[in-house]
Amino acid sequence: MHAVQLDAQTTEKPILLSNNRHLLLFLAILFLISWILLSYLNFQVEQDNALDFAEQQVQNQLHVHRALHSYVEDTQKPEIYRLKDSGKLYPAYFSPKLLSFTYIARNLQQHLQEERAEYGLPRIHFKLASTNARNPINQADEFEQELLRRMNQEQLEVYRSVINYKGGEFFYMALPITPNRRSCMRCHSDPNRAPKELLEQYGDKRGFYEQLGDIRAMISIRVPLSSLLEDVQHNSIQFSAASLGIFVLVFSILSYFIVRLDREQKKVSTQNTILEELSYTDELTQLNNRRRFNSDLENEFELAKRYQVSFSIILLDIDYFKSINDTHGHLVGDEVLVEFSRLLQQEIRVADRCARWGGEEFIILLPNTPLDGTVKLAEKLHGVIKHHSFPYNIQLTASFGIAEHIQPEEIKQLLSRLDNALYRAKEQGRDCIVIARSDNQDVI
Ligand code: GH3
Ligand code: MG
Ligand code: MG
Repeated sequence: MHAVQLDAQTTEKPILLSNNRHLLLFLAILFLISWILLSYLNFQVEQDNALDFAEQQVQNQLHVHRALHSYVEDTQKPEIYRLKDSGKLYPAYFSPKLLSFTYIARNLQQHLQEERAEYGLPRIHFKLASTNARNPINQADEFEQELLRRMNQEQLEVYRSVINYKGGEFFYMALPITPNRRSCMRCHSDPNRAPKELLEQYGDKRGFYEQLGDIRAMISIRVPLSSLLEDVQHNSIQFSAASLGIFVLVFSILSYFIVRLDREQKKVSTQNTILEELSYTDELTQLNNRRRFNSDLENEFELAKRYQVSFSIILLDIDYFKSINDTHGHLVGDEVLVEFSRLLQQEIRVADRCARWGGEEFIILLPNTPLDGTVKLAEKLHGVIKHHSFPYNIQLTASFGIAEHIQPEEIKQLLSRLDNALYRAKEQGRDCIVIARSDNQDVI
């Protein structure tokens, strides 16, 4: 038994307690997963917003387009026909500038895009794509032709998608214009019915021979996404960096408190160990005390019961110790007791448990040891004590009671046998060993 170290700091280890280490690891993983998830969700939301914004721009274009269509069809064209009917315009008059909605819409787009360019806004590509375009500029490409075919077969109402066009990302939307009405047929069916000046301008091939109800064209709009996506990327990086910062900060604060808590827990646990040691240690001799011996004895008793092994006990008492106190004083008596304890501790095996039973009485538990081995140790101790020179050249002898545990004997009975044996040793003149047998007691 070593002196108990009271300074809690000396036993403190630098690493965290395992449950705190696991807690920190769990928090780190939780924060990392949360951060990745949050960054991903934010990126998705930013991207959706960008696409919504692009679609909003398309819708604005469509509103302008429809308003223009209504104006041309319901106001402008009737006025021109009225002028023709009233003879103020000649009947064959035709100018795309006033009578072709496609022409007017395309030119309005031209102006609109120039206006946007002036304000540094990206171009929105607007096209009235047709498979039978009068003006080649409106001719549908292969992709648009396919969409138109599906629209005419009523397989598709509106097409919206993000597409890659000439290396750039675009929000793309296509929707059909109103199918050919009766009022459209004069210019789009038989060329013979068409105004002379229309034929002179565009010829009699393109834009004719269409049927009533045909979807002649579709509105094809491409909004460039590159600058919007750059914004998405930029915002997402900023958000991720900021949220990472917050997570790291929160994690650091939590770590700080966990480390402090860990330190406190270790301190308490070390102090508990020290208190436990103290509660089991005899203050003067630093041997185990009676309480500890009883607990060791109970353990040994249980082991002996379970594994059918034997153990023995030596109880010894210093002879005439009172006279030492009387002669040399109590302090010298204390010194002698300390030296006596050191001597016992030195002579027994590591597995043996030596304790101060009380005053100048000591007890030794010998696990897994039958009686003959116990007798040998008692004899050795008896001799060593007798021939040892204690402080101030004091010579001592001791009386011994020894016993082997016999199944199914209870602890109480065993201790009682031991006590009797020691009593007998004292009675028979001291400085001797008495073996406690179950029936009788032998003196050596
Ligand atoms: P016996 O041979 O019959 O055992 O005689 P004894 O004098 O050893 O026994 P007794 O029970 O008459 O006296 C024990 C003495 O041990 C009395 C007591 O003061 C002393 N003692 C007990 N504990 C301590 C201690 O911690 N320090 C000192 N100095 N003396 C102690
Ligand atoms: Mg005594
Ligand atoms: Mg005594």
